[in-house]
Amino acid sequence: MLLGCIADDFTGATDLANNLVRSGMRVVQTIGKPDDGSRIDADAVVVALKSRTIEPAAAVEQSLAALSWLRRSGAAQVYFKVCSTFDSTDRGNIGPVAEALLEALGGDFAPVCPAFPENQRTVFKGHLFVGDLLLSDSSMRNHPLTPMTDPNLVRVMQRQCRGKVGLVDQAVVAAGSAAIRNRMTQLRNCGHRFGIVDAISNVDLMSMGQAFSGMPLIVAGSGVAIGLPQNHGFQASAAAARLPAAGGLRAIVSGSCSAASNAQVADFLRRGGQAYAIDPLRIAAGEDTVSAALAWAAPRLVAGPILVYATSESEAVKAVQARLGVEQAGALVEQALSSIALGLVERGVRQLVVAGGETSGACVQALEVAQLRIGPQIDPGVPWCHADSPAADAEGLHLALKSGNFGTFDFFTKAFDRLA
Ligand code: ADP
Repeated sequence: MLLGCIADDFTGATDLANNLVRSGMRVVQTIGKPDDGSRIDADAVVVALKSRTIEPAAAVEQSLAALSWLRRSGAAQVYFKVCSTFDSTDRGNIGPVAEALLEALGGDFAPVCPAFPENQRTVFKGHLFVGDLLLSDSSMRNHPLTPMTDPNLVRVMQRQCRGKVGLVDQAVVAAGSAAIRNRMTQLRNCGHRFGIVDAISNVDLMSMGQAFSGMPLIVAGSGVAIGLPQNHGFQASAAAARLPAAGGLRAIVSGSCSAASNAQVADFLRRGGQAYAIDPLRIAAGEDTVSAALAWAAPRLVAGPILVYATSESEAVKAVQARLGVEQAGALVEQALSSIALGLVERGVRQLVVAGGETSGACVQALEVAQLRIGPQIDPGVPWCHADSPAADAEGLHLALKSGNFGTFDFFTKAFDRLA
């Protein structure tokens, strides 16, 4: 294993894995730290944690446990994947986890860069932009858990760290990998532990990739990953994304209420797709929604793909939440949809699209999936994956886990075409 990655959330892990595969590496994503004795055949392994907003001490502990598995498995370099909007608070968890990883690796300096210009995340003079807006002017300003009100990442990171944080600015990055290396050496010699690295283009990410060769730890969004595989002689090719042949029945389960998912459900219905809507209030009233949905699906699967969805526009979601409470509504729907996903796989579905980050987490748990081999990209950030599940027998199943706002309007049709 050349690259060992620790991601602080599930869909962020897939996003990173997708970029590594696009650049030619064979990648496996694990759900949490793999069992101590397990071995994985891949060029890179991405351990997906759920540590972004938990207590800093717990995030450090889980990250160090993942690190020790990755090192035992031979990881030559470690990549701590954080959000491209640097989601964190003054308590962490980016700073405390990065410092703990660096110390455990015996390193004295790590570059930090959440930029992903293709996805509208750029860093200039240490300031993070989301599209044309400074981070602090973007909707991240109002995030319920990690409101980002300071766009200056040197300051943001410094508030979370004991060690000093400096800047590798865009003029240096534009001068290429040797200049980036020189600047990092300067920072290290002045006692800095971290350097925020600017990036406004893919060229910057490629220079960075070269400059970071051999460094023990990289702290980054998923963008920096496009420049790393070249250090090991990998080139973009379809071979890395090859999965076992797809077979079986096809289904979509959608619990995301994001704008993109609403548009995708609407497009599927407009095309005359077979669809079954779940009503959270009926679940709350004690109806056996799972059995009803599966009974509806059974005779229709052969002519699939079928769609089972709780996806609704925000007014309807608010009305349900007002009746049931936000958490209770979310948990009821996740429970129902993940049981339906399991039932569908038990009935022969082997190509399953799940829409929604939390919904995907619940479905993967219900299917007892421990690892995903990452395959071809459907849309940016969303690849097809192949996984083993006790519900699917020996041949396993193909899964596409789509976080809410990803994917074009025709995603539910395009995804299956991509696999054909
Ligand atoms: P996204 O990636 O779009 O944020 P998630 O699956 O992470 O999607 O989150 C959507 C949440 O909304 C889940 O907890 C889901 O159970 C819940 N949910 C889905 N449909 C409804 C609905 N009709 N009413 C209330 N909550 C819903």
